[in-house]
Amino acid sequence: MAGRSELVSYDYRKLRARILAESDVCILCGHAGADAVDHVHPVAKGGAKLDPDNLAPIHGVAGCPTCLRKCNSEKGARSLAEVQQLITSVDWFAGP
Ligand SMILES: [Zn+2]
Ligand SMILES: [Zn+2]
Repeated sequence: MAGRSELVSYDYRKLRARILAESDVCILCGHAGADAVDHVHPVAKGGAKLDPDNLAPIHGVAGCPTCLRKCNSEKGARSLAEVQQLITSVDWFAGP
């Protein structure tokens, strides 16, 4: 978080807590236990940075306890629509 202004990180943490309090179901894999939030429309592509409507729960660095995916890093800088297309087009849930 170094380099970010206190105001932005404070607002972001507040928003993240609010979003995770409403739901911890990951937007990417659909399992519960999300501990981070991600932008539905990437900020780099014009998405609002601190808009609760543009933030959704996602599994962060710890990964998903159910499918073990590191959803946030797998999503990367792609938009949610791109990732959802990927999920439905390949065997995203392949495995035991
Ligand atoms: Zn997930
Ligand atoms: Zn999962």
